[in-house]
Amino acid sequence: MSNIINDKITSYLHSLYKPLNDGLQRLRQEAEEKHIPIILKETESYIYNIVKIKKPQRILEIGTAIGYASIFLATALPEADIITLEVNDNMYRKAVDNVERFGLSDRIQIRLGDAARSLIDLANEIKDVELEGFDLVFIDAAKSYYKEFWEGSVPLCRKGAIILSDNVLLKARTVSDEYITDRRQKTNVRRMRQYIDYVMSLKNADTAILTIGDGIAVSILND
Ligand code: SAH
Ligand code: MG
Repeated sequence: MSNIINDKITSYLHSLYKPLNDGLQRLRQEAEEKHIPIILKETESYIYNIVKIKKPQRILEIGTAIGYASIFLATALPEADIITLEVNDNMYRKAVDNVERFGLSDRIQIRLGDAARSLIDLANEIKDVELEGFDLVFIDAAKSYYKEFWEGSVPLCRKGAIILSDNVLLKARTVSDEYITDRRQKTNVRRMRQYIDYVMSLKNADTAILTIGDGIAVSILND
């Protein structure tokens, strides 16, 4: 199962999709050709909607890849600044190039290194969370470490911040072992289930899990 929902529904949704601009359309195409896992079209449409409601000024992304989602967010939100974290040197360099090409280097800061480490650095740098903290976090890196990313991000968040966690349904493997096709997937699946149980149990956040794209958890931190 490549999609968590019916293939006909997915292709219908894709037929309705409109890229924000030609540059983003080309960047998406390049990522898809190279099998770089950027946000799916239907996930992008949902995120567009939610950021238009929330109007975040400071965004944190965990997992940059070639910078597609960051460039998309910076384009959708001309007032927003973004910090995005990437561990892979090759991805990092491509993202830096892409962000420069789009003329967004002043609003998108890419940090190279394990996100767990960068989150500690950010915690040390941010003195006043209500002034300098994030109002949107997009968790989209190593699928076994979402809990660690969550715990590192929450102290950097303003009140009422939204945390989006992508790919939480892992092509339905999170739902049922019958969709596991390779035993190497097992650790990710087990840890993603633990992550979902964890966020759903939290008193300081309200979370909904949506079956958009590969599944997205939408968490709103309490005021
Ligand atoms: N959010 C991007 C796609 C990210 S793909 C978009 O939608 O355009 C996931 C990325 O997370 C990969 O590039 C991978 O190298 C990175 N990653 C994986 N583990 C990480 C970690 N521990 N710290 C930082 N980045 C990580
Ligand atoms: Mg993703």
